[in-house]
Amino acid sequence: MSGPAEHRRHVAVHVTGIVQGVGMRPFVYREARAHRIAGWVLNAPDGVHIDAVGSAPDIEAFLEGLRGHAPAAARIDAVSVRDMECPDEPEPGDPRFTILASDADGARTTLVSPDIATCDDCLRELFDPADRRYHYPFINCTNCGPRFTIIRSLPYDRAATSMDAFPMCPECAAEYADPADRRFHAQPDACFACGPHITWREHGRGAAGAPALGTTREESDAIIERCAELLENGGIVAIKGLGGFHLACSAEDAGAVRELRRRKRRSGKPFAIMVRTVRDAQSLCSVDAQERELLAGSVRPIVLLARAGREGGIDLAYDVARDLPEIGVMLPYTPLQHLIMAACARRGIRALVMTSGNISGEPIETDDDDAWRRLGPIADALLGNDRAILSRYDDSVVRCAGGLVLPVRRARGYAPRPLPLPRIEPTCSPAAPSKRRPSRWCATIRTGAPRASCPSISAISSGAPPSKRGAMPSGAWNPCSA
Ligand SMILES: [Zn+2]
Ligand SMILES: [Zn+2]
Repeated sequence: MSGPAEHRRHVAVHVTGIVQGVGMRPFVYREARAHRIAGWVLNAPDGVHIDAVGSAPDIEAFLEGLRGHAPAAARIDAVSVRDMECPDEPEPGDPRFTILASDADGARTTLVSPDIATCDDCLRELFDPADRRYHYPFINCTNCGPRFTIIRSLPYDRAATSMDAFPMCPECAAEYADPADRRFHAQPDACFACGPHITWREHGRGAAGAPALGTTREESDAIIERCAELLENGGIVAIKGLGGFHLACSAEDAGAVRELRRRKRRSGKPFAIMVRTVRDAQSLCSVDAQERELLAGSVRPIVLLARAGREGGIDLAYDVARDLPEIGVMLPYTPLQHLIMAACARRGIRALVMTSGNISGEPIETDDDDAWRRLGPIADALLGNDRAILSRYDDSVVRCAGGLVLPVRRARGYAPRPLPLPRIEPTCSPAAPSKRRPSRWCATIRTGAPRASCPSISAISSGAPPSKRGAMPSGAWNPCSA
């Protein structure tokens, strides 16, 4: 219960940072309920706004909770609090706290969340035959799933994403509206009945240009099984991911890897691989605690790991990374990848080459029809889906050295998080402003303000990065071509 009016407090709160698409509003709602706060929360283009009325100690505890217990995927840059005039009388009964419709007006300054790897709760449901999303390749919740790659504009609401093409079924809509549910206001919430579905095209099978659709669990499972069968038999499959296509083949099949190199016209550069578990990664490479956290965390970049061939380990085809001392390894980060890796494991495949699905020197493909036209000569089949990718997003590549995580390619999971720029005095400015473009860029650098960074989208240049283990052979890991 709120106290008498003189002990009550009314505050307007503005939270900035990565606060949309990370379960912030449901979190604020639960905190407000827990501390008997009345008011509302809404998303706006400049962040999250909260209006809160409660007893002074409850408001204090509420604000502390906001700062201290934000969702794992959120990054709070600032919580600004402004005291407002208190309403005369507390409303009788339970204080009402509501999530208001987003406010589309105002300055567009909030930060877009990166996409987040499938969380453990969703993973459990994905492999639980009793769950209604059993084997659903697009399962997600407020703690995981696509964000950056499906957002058209801010504030982050379903209508402003490529999920707007999928009206929610009654069951999903009920979860979405239930504050006690993990999918409360999860914008990409979906299921077999209402959400996106995977598709399948294969040379020589089915009507040209008309992909098979995995509308039901059975149809979807059949596509994934066919994909695994093709991979087992040395095939190459273009697989649509979060921000573009991968080209996949068995990393243990020397002929398949050679053929992928031939068709992709990529003679020397190493391929990244995907394995199912950290234990599988350890069967190929040495993995320390920091690397393990990166492999299995919520970002899941490609981690460059030192080889450590072990007895009984994965028998990697020589052509994956030839004689390089490091292998680029990642774990599955989408539900579809978990399903594919599980289907492959049943056929004895423990590692897949997962290289960017692009023609050498061009950006990663994102559209199914374009990808089939352009990657068709490389791939035997294409596993796509009917959800549009709105932003390209290649896999990030990192290396650990001396306790630091060094980005080799900063994209999925990291971008568009801003990078703080160092304060650089004008005399030290790395590029003087030209006559045509006066001082805008330099002025930005002088502020030392964080800047949003675009993800790498897989293109065009070459050149090897420095290695923590001495000089790398030419064709080594490259920010623009892994
Ligand atoms: Zn989840
Ligand atoms: Zn549904």
